[in-house]
Amino acid sequence: MKKIGMIGGMSWESTQLYYELLNKKVKELIGGFHSADCVIESFDFAQVAKLQKQDDWKALDALMIQRAKSLEAAGAEMILICANTMHLCVDAINRNTNIPIVHIAKVTAEKIKGLGLNKVALLGTKFTMERDFFRKILEEDNIAVLVPNQMDRDLVHDTIYKELVLGVLTESSKKTYLRIIQDLKIRGAQGVILGCTEIPLLIHQEDVDLPLFNTTKIHAEKAVYLALEKET
Ligand code: GLU
Repeated sequence: MKKIGMIGGMSWESTQLYYELLNKKVKELIGGFHSADCVIESFDFAQVAKLQKQDDWKALDALMIQRAKSLEAAGAEMILICANTMHLCVDAINRNTNIPIVHIAKVTAEKIKGLGLNKVALLGTKFTMERDFFRKILEEDNIAVLVPNQMDRDLVHDTIYKELVLGVLTESSKKTYLRIIQDLKIRGAQGVILGCTEIPLLIHQEDVDLPLFNTTKIHAEKAVYLALEKET
């Protein structure tokens, strides 16, 4: 089994999901006493959130390179960045390390194509919804991407930073997200990408009548298939 390296703590609320998903998938696929061979570099999220707010991606690149190098030194054979937003640092990491990054948008695109969809909604932080690092990967695969309007993007983003990364789950935010998802459905979305690794704490498949693409789960499970060199 290959060793999986995770850059986590962005936030730890979702990193714990990753840890559980990795181990459960290994158990499901090979059973017995097996569990995931992994190593986690976990940030103090305050440091990351502050630099995001300042839009200082140079400093964030440097932090992420440092953590990726630690994973490499620890023997990791692949890197999972346990957040969608921080995939903004992929190019910088790739230039400075020699182990592959399992890209969250690429593995999500694979799932969407597997269901034969070609127009999906994307929910996440404003970085993820408004910059092109995530959407361009889907568009290269001929998947059109819809995002909420400006006001709703603010609501989705603020809920992530003021509630979800702090482990706060409220009925009112859930209702807001479900209303936004319905609006996106009316605009033609055939499915919805939960493109922030904490959103699956709030929104579940049974809440929504469109297929959901839970990036946390898709990403973690893909890493296990790669670690075990099994076909998905
Ligand atoms: N975990 C989040 C994501 O998937 C948001 C927190 C962060 O900004 O890293 O984008």
